[in-house]
Amino acid sequence: MSHHWGYSGQNGPEHWHKSFPVANGERQSPVDIDTRTAIHDPSLQPVSVCYDQASSRRILNNGHSFNVEFDDSQDKAVLKGGPLHGTYRLIQFHFHWGSSDGQGSEHTVDKMKYAAELHLVHWNTKYGDFGKAVQQPDGLAVLGIFLKIGPATPGLQQVLDALQSIKTKGKSVNFANFDPRCLLPGNLDYWTYSGSLTTPPLLECVTWIVLKEPITVTSEQMSKFRKLNFNGEGEPEELMVDNWRPAQPLKNRQIKASFK
Ligand SMILES: [Zn+2]
Repeated sequence: MSHHWGYSGQNGPEHWHKSFPVANGERQSPVDIDTRTAIHDPSLQPVSVCYDQASSRRILNNGHSFNVEFDDSQDKAVLKGGPLHGTYRLIQFHFHWGSSDGQGSEHTVDKMKYAAELHLVHWNTKYGDFGKAVQQPDGLAVLGIFLKIGPATPGLQQVLDALQSIKTKGKSVNFANFDPRCLLPGNLDYWTYSGSLTTPPLLECVTWIVLKEPITVTSEQMSKFRKLNFNGEGEPEELMVDNWRPAQPLKNRQIKASFK
């Protein structure tokens, strides 16, 4: 069953709990960020995004999204500071998006959905590898960045141009020399809370750092994401759209803001 999950119908998010009971857990993601109840924590340090030595390797359609993968065998691209203790290494980034520009993000801000959301996934180096880290409550740090309709973000186009080579599930191509710094907004103010992976196995191992400032994307660029397929080559075409999990109950958690 575990490989059968998807985003619609009998395999959709409402059914994930049957194979992954933690779907109903105490610290699931995403959540709605209620800006009036988020608490400014003056002790929160700025987040430190050290991507100057980042080494991208490959881009892969995994049937749920596409991952841009990085060499994480050394401390080349790391996230530190903010709410984090220690050093978290970048392993991959991916996006979630909608069937139209009015939806697509996983986190929402005062219930507002953005057109897409970028997730830069990092693992805590004290656990040695990604597989060990996901089994720990402080194993991952995911930097979440919203995409809002507006001018094109230079740099995103390099990613979008590669998508025609990985249309179907399982396809990958080399994707070297991509600088993920071109996907960051100017302001790194953030919200942070303890949560989970938003795809099965939904493990509760993530410190979320969600940036307040979105990057921008044109409607034409968004349409490129929607040409991807969930299916493998030679199977009936199912457009890869609405690959987002809806907001989950906050339960006994508080969202902290790094800014006033
Ligand atoms: Zn994600």
